[in-house]
Amino acid sequence: MVFDRRLTTRTPEDQLLQVAAHEAKHFLIDNDLKPVIAVFLICGFIFFVSQMLVRLVRRKVGDQGAVVQLALTVYAFGTVAFLLAQPVVTTWHRNLEIEADRFGLEFNRDNQALIDIMWTDAKQNPMAYRYTPITKFLRATHPQIKDRIKLAETYRPWLDGGPLKYGAYVSD
Ligand SMILES: [Zn+2]
Repeated sequence: MVFDRRLTTRTPEDQLLQVAAHEAKHFLIDNDLKPVIAVFLICGFIFFVSQMLVRLVRRKVGDQGAVVQLALTVYAFGTVAFLLAQPVVTTWHRNLEIEADRFGLEFNRDNQALIDIMWTDAKQNPMAYRYTPITKFLRATHPQIKDRIKLAETYRPWLDGGPLKYGAYVSD
């Protein structure tokens, strides 16, 4: 977004700084491969176990119909497991995003800039202001705008005397 000239000429500088700090947090702190590796390992494990089961049944029963039935059952369970994992993945991702907002606030200390960005977003995408529970748990990778505005309106430890969460990255 920062490098898009049409956007940079239209967007006020304080908002650009907030966006840049938000993205910098993803770049500096969120470049963690562990969750990706974990997902690959879990998928590989499920694939391995289902292959073993199919082979076992084929050897014991020798009935192609039973193998097909088992394979369908395994895939059905896999689909359900995938759906059940969605709230975990979306919650984790939403947390990364709200933390990137927090990083931006600590870095720029300009809460109004984030509030302005969020109200612009809300006008362009009113559905994102407040999610339905289904959207929130199954699909939303970003926090609802209402929550991001609430953070911008209430989070100022540099004024309230609280500790900075990203103090190690932010200099006075
Ligand atoms: Zn982000």
